[in-house]
Amino acid sequence: MSAPRRVFGFVEWTLRPDRDDDAPPVTYAFRCLALREDDSECGERSQASADPCVPQEWAFGHLRENPEHTSYAEVIERPWVMWRGGPA
Ligand SMILES: [Zn+2]
Repeated sequence: MSAPRRVFGFVEWTLRPDRDDDAPPVTYAFRCLALREDDSECGERSQASADPCVPQEWAFGHLRENPEHTSYAEVIERPWVMWRGGPA
């Protein structure tokens, strides 16, 4: 994958996924997309977890409490970092 690069004030910056050992973990969450009777989105959301199975368990619990809520979005947060200069 080629990282996007931009130059600001004569300094070239590269944006790349942060895969360093001390980078924040990739996290996963689930958000309920079901519509309520007034057409507003339920929007309830699991806690973010580094384990993708944890928010899936939340979705089953949410379905038990709300049997019509069958539509979900997985929200993935992946750390990126600005890197001064070109790629290492
Ligand atoms: Zn819901």
